[in-house]
Amino acid sequence: MGSAASSDAIRNITDFSGPARGAAPAQRRAADEFGSLTFNEETQRARLPKDVFRALRRSIAHGESLDPSIADIVASALKDWAVEHGATHYTHWFQPMTGITAEKHDAFLNPTADGRAVAEFSGKELVKGEPDASSFPSGGLRSTFEARGYTAWDPTSPPWLLVTSAGTTLVIPTAFVSWTGEALDKKTPLLRSQEALSKQAVRILKLFGSKAQRVATTCGPEQEYFLIDRQFYFNRPDLINAGRTLFGAKPPKGQEMEDQYFGAIPDRVLAFMMECERELYKVGVPVKTRHNEVAPSQYELAPIFENANVATDHQMMTMEMLRRIAPKYGLACLLHEKPFAGVNGSGKHLNWSMSDDLGNNLLNPGETPHDNVQFLVFCAAVIRAVNKFQGLLRFAIASAGNDHRLGANEAPPAIISIFLGDMLTDIFQQIEKAGAAKSTKSGGIMDIGVNVLPKLPRDAGDRNRTSPFAFTGNKFEFRAVSANQSIALPNVALNVAVTESLDYAASELEKELKAGKKLPVAIKTLLTKLVKDNKQIIFNGNGYSDEWQKEAGKRGLLNLRNSVDSYPEAIKPDVIKAFEKYGVLNERELHARYEVALEQYNKTINIEAQLMVLMANRYILPAGYRFQSELANGVSAVKTAGGTAKETKRTLDQVTKLVDELKVGVEGLQKLLDHESNGDAVKHAKYFRDKVIPAMVALRESGDALETLVPQDLWPLPTYREMLFVK
Ligand code: ADP
Ligand code: MG
Repeated sequence: MGSAASSDAIRNITDFSGPARGAAPAQRRAADEFGSLTFNEETQRARLPKDVFRALRRSIAHGESLDPSIADIVASALKDWAVEHGATHYTHWFQPMTGITAEKHDAFLNPTADGRAVAEFSGKELVKGEPDASSFPSGGLRSTFEARGYTAWDPTSPPWLLVTSAGTTLVIPTAFVSWTGEALDKKTPLLRSQEALSKQAVRILKLFGSKAQRVATTCGPEQEYFLIDRQFYFNRPDLINAGRTLFGAKPPKGQEMEDQYFGAIPDRVLAFMMECERELYKVGVPVKTRHNEVAPSQYELAPIFENANVATDHQMMTMEMLRRIAPKYGLACLLHEKPFAGVNGSGKHLNWSMSDDLGNNLLNPGETPHDNVQFLVFCAAVIRAVNKFQGLLRFAIASAGNDHRLGANEAPPAIISIFLGDMLTDIFQQIEKAGAAKSTKSGGIMDIGVNVLPKLPRDAGDRNRTSPFAFTGNKFEFRAVSANQSIALPNVALNVAVTESLDYAASELEKELKAGKKLPVAIKTLLTKLVKDNKQIIFNGNGYSDEWQKEAGKRGLLNLRNSVDSYPEAIKPDVIKAFEKYGVLNERELHARYEVALEQYNKTINIEAQLMVLMANRYILPAGYRFQSELANGVSAVKTAGGTAKETKRTLDQVTKLVDELKVGVEGLQKLLDHESNGDAVKHAKYFRDKVIPAMVALRESGDALETLVPQDLWPLPTYREMLFVK
């Protein structure tokens, strides 16, 4: 152990002779491989009877439920396809409220009366599953004795094959509900919220004369992650059990040289990325971009955007793939929001837009005045949504892990605001003024009533890394989402918020039209009001600055600095009202999300604190004691030999002071954990936040100070220097 383990790891890396650049085996063309392990539209067309294929595609395109008689035929084709590809099992894959994925595998094989076995898979088995649901959190929706939970096939997300060296499994994306029909998962509300948004968006499109029948939300999540050598990982109990380092002194070199971002990708990492991409391609995930991120050993991967439901499934598959492939390259993939203190944490920028079934991106400013006006209505609706539902959006990104990022000068602040860019801001300012003054100050450039609207550039101008929610040309980018979380809830939150605003906008317009107003006039009135009422949410400046904190306070924006403050936003009356009105979650279901979030927070901090106690007692203090005793012996020996040992004694005193501090600190933390009672979850969370976390921070300070003094050969944990810089 100790430095021996660390230097072994280094040797291992130097000797690494895995796949190298240019040495990869001949590959099939990526285009041929894409989707080859999915039951996608092409495969469906090839394998299903024409009428069944059409019915299935209709159901997918229009969100209609599928005729049960068709399910048997689809199931049989799906099974044949899977078995031909070597599958022996199938699984209903679902996303419980914890934010991970769950699967229970069943064999296709069924014994026959004459002692043989045949592969069987019925429509019933495709459509509905019944995993034992008792150990998934339900946030009070179901008690453990009512363990029934059902998985329901989601035909809009293509089934895929999970291929491992030991065998192949057919994976069927499903929703997960209780026997009362209440959503126990993340997919169900997402699907419901997409339906809801579609309805309201189509109402507005109709007013503009569009023939569109459905609107889908699109999303492209950019995933940041760290890669470290696997041997280091195994020697860090904190990484294994908490996903982040709980101790670790700042290395001499951090990210200050700024030599990592977009730098050359190390060979081993590139080989890892290429294999991940290839495997993701096969299961239909359209990965596109790869690069180094800001922190040492930090990287990013981004797909091409897709329908938000499919993108959410694909995002979960991406995280799993990253974790799964890393060991093959001697690496561990860390998806935690903040694996290392002192260098940047990891986020997951959620690019989000709305698109109609005619292929138009509704947040594309467009080239013509007509498109512009329609764009401005949708854009203003998003602005209103973010302003009105700041709290909900803040809730959607709240977690113990993300608390380390938000507001820490590396990620957006905890204040939700919108970056629009100068161009759009100017246009909305003009709208506001023109409406109020009934004349156009800007020399006629922008007047909703006339046809000389400016052509908006596709690129809305500069980027702003400090904004939690930024307009980036033809989409919004929710930048405060964290690396480790499912994008389902942020999507749901956005969808509900925007649905409510689209409903509002449609109702206002319809009312004016009914009263005999012309559409341009109605739009002008609406836009003016939307801008006036919601402009406080727009902020193009530096989100990291102290001035913004003050300014946001003056504007009355929410500033929820931590998760514990943010969770109650989920159950505010306005939020419940909107979720219920659009049928996305009823009050009980919403409350369940709130409770699960709180529970997750409490469990996370409890585990981290316990781990710190363990590491302090069994790793760090023993190292301190050893060094202390070496120094004490040294001092005696030097004195016996006639020296003063003055400087050695000084080091001994320093070490002793830190060892004592640590001992007191760890006992204090242990006591706090002992006294933490099993009361109300909110009280619990506040106790963790106000008592336990400060004790953890103090304990870490003593441990990290000791690390800088203790000799390398006595230090039992891989250091930041090793973990972050050995490639
Ligand atoms: P940027 O230069 O702003 O990073 P990119 O074009 O590289 O923009 O896109 C970043 C992410 O945004 C990608 O995942 C991309 O697929 C996604 N994206 C692009 N357009 C849309 C859209 N209309 N809806 C949702 N996501 C989108
Ligand atoms: Mg990025």
